[in-house]
Amino acid sequence: MFLFKPKFKFKDIKDILPVHKTRKWKRRKRNNILEIIIHHSAAISKKGKGLEEIENIAIYHKSLGNHISKRGCPGICYPWVIDRDGVIYKTSDHENITWHCKRHNLRGLGICLLGKFTKGGQKPTLDQLRSLEKLLFYLSSTLKVSIHHVYCHRDFKNTICPGDLLYYYVCLRKAYPKIFIKDF
Ligand SMILES: [Zn+2]
Repeated sequence: MFLFKPKFKFKDIKDILPVHKTRKWKRRKRNNILEIIIHHSAAISKKGKGLEEIENIAIYHKSLGNHISKRGCPGICYPWVIDRDGVIYKTSDHENITWHCKRHNLRGLGICLLGKFTKGGQKPTLDQLRSLEKLLFYLSSTLKVSIHHVYCHRDFKNTICPGDLLYYYVCLRKAYPKIFIKDF
């Protein structure tokens, strides 16, 4: 399915991120995961600031009255995040049913790319896209979710997430699964 087998390296930070005091995620079996759903963080992101920005997302998601939950979420709502430098972070367990895409949370695994990929925002970096490629390869081989079951948030909800620029990349990627689109 993919042209090359990239080396896969990631930083596991799931145990150091802030979580809700009392709320816990409901759990699922790995074979419940049938879809991968891509998001952007919708905030301008800077190189070298990945960890800090992810911590801020976790703080926001667990806080009272955020846009996802009035009571606050149990923790960060994505199990994978990729920063502008292309660093891949594991931020939650695959078994956690995190709240990232209504009606698709049980079957969907979320990946968030840091950045605002909408008009007036920024482009995903080449390092970020390369890492997305590696992560998709890794997940498709370990979870048996093919490129055809990789979606964007906007495929299921009336949202601009993950921004036109990343959305078009994912569409191209699905249409041409054997080509890494360098000149995006
Ligand atoms: Zn989203």
